[in-house]
Amino acid sequence: MNEQMVNDIVQEVLAKLQISESPSGKHGVFVEMEDAVQAAKAAQKVVRNMSMDQREKIISNIRKKTKENAETIARMGVQETGMGNVGDKILKHLLVAEKTPGTEDITTTAWSGDRGLTLLEMGPFGVIGAITPSTNPSETVICNSIGMIAGGNTVVFNPHPQAVKTTIFAINMINEASLEAGGPDNVACTVEKPTVATSNYMMKHKDIQLLVATGGTGVVTTVLSSGKKGIGAGAGNPPALVDETADIRKAAQDIVNGCTFDNNLPCIAEKEVVAVSSIMDELMHYMLTEQGCYLASREEQDKLAKTVITEKGALNRKCVGRSAKVLLSMIGVEVPDNIRCIIFEGEKEHPLITTELMMPILGIVRAKDFDDAVEKAVWLEHGNRHSAHIHSKNVDNITRYAKAIDTAILVKNGPSYAALGFGGEGYATFTIASRTGEGLTSAKSFTKCRRCVMTDSLCIR
Ligand code: NAD
Repeated sequence: MNEQMVNDIVQEVLAKLQISESPSGKHGVFVEMEDAVQAAKAAQKVVRNMSMDQREKIISNIRKKTKENAETIARMGVQETGMGNVGDKILKHLLVAEKTPGTEDITTTAWSGDRGLTLLEMGPFGVIGAITPSTNPSETVICNSIGMIAGGNTVVFNPHPQAVKTTIFAINMINEASLEAGGPDNVACTVEKPTVATSNYMMKHKDIQLLVATGGTGVVTTVLSSGKKGIGAGAGNPPALVDETADIRKAAQDIVNGCTFDNNLPCIAEKEVVAVSSIMDELMHYMLTEQGCYLASREEQDKLAKTVITEKGALNRKCVGRSAKVLLSMIGVEVPDNIRCIIFEGEKEHPLITTELMMPILGIVRAKDFDDAVEKAVWLEHGNRHSAHIHSKNVDNITRYAKAIDTAILVKNGPSYAALGFGGEGYATFTIASRTGEGLTSAKSFTKCRRCVMTDSLCIR
């Protein structure tokens, strides 16, 4: 038996001792934020000393349990928040389970030479404070937890109050996975009743070393004003640009597939289209005849705008993540079940186009040429630098658009969800740090850089 194996057994025994002392006995869920932070801190001491192999065992078990519970959590999320649809939420959980990077994401940089060996090692921050959205509650919690634990951290979540049950289910599941794999309880913690007060308490807590905010502009700004290191994954309003060189029929299909995925909840999803005038009618024709779209009249657009946006300009939460059929029924229009998206032609200033709706309502803006289309799309993205999409076969156009819009994600000739590794290459994440520049976060985003220097030895070149 080598030293590592002895260490592993000691960690396992320590973890078991800790379970019996767990104050709530509810696997990571506490009444007071202080208790949640202290439990995560105790768990981090254990995780910190675990081998990478042991951390990976916990992560594999989280993946396994996420797959087993995908349908249960998906149903719970839809039931609790009223947003999205079960089929797509199952796919999102399977995606998180399969494609969120683990410990393999954390790599070391080395320099060796006459003066010795220097390593850049990525170490844990400690206890991370994470704030999660109502739109992908459990997906974000599971995705963040995998990456954060891979980095040797533990995490305290302050979830959206409208998604507490679903979040608690996910947190219980993560801790059960850790315990079963020989890890500690409380690798992910939360409070029974998250509020702005518990969030503030967590943000100011001396034992929280890194804050990660996934949500709208308000929460990201709050986290970035905290005086601590913050990762800010904020709002988007992704435009899909279509030029005259695109495969128009496929563009119609990709855009509607992306826009309607989980009823348009993902922050990366197509929120509006900018099409050059010469192909705009053809694009709308395919959307209407082949992609289950409903063309809203001017009067219906006005009714929809009054229904989905409040007088103060906020979103009506009862409309976010609802299907096209439900949204239309709210304005007295009954449509068959195959209708999945509401489309119309409008100016870029139209409230249903300029607002990040998170509903399958897709306004289409006419541009006189490619330059005009780029200008309109950049304006509509509102400087979030989050996500944008393009359908074009002209690489010069694609390059110009990419430089002008400057977003963390740019999908070319595919549905937006390809950016999450769903029908596209690359890993998955539900925290896209548009504001602070990490882009698609993964385990390495939750580590800090440490330089280890050995002078004059260990170079064997
Ligand atoms: P939201 O901003 O209403 O809430 C997000 C989280 O922040 C919740 O936990 C909420 O309780 C908390 N919160 C809000 N204001 C706060 C404040 N002032 N102080 C502390 N906590 C605060 O967002 P939502 O409606 O749940 O989610 C949708 C929004 O999140 C959209 O704008 C979407 O684009 C964005 N989003 C971004 C990403 C990303 O990766 N960039 C991912 C998902 C969602």
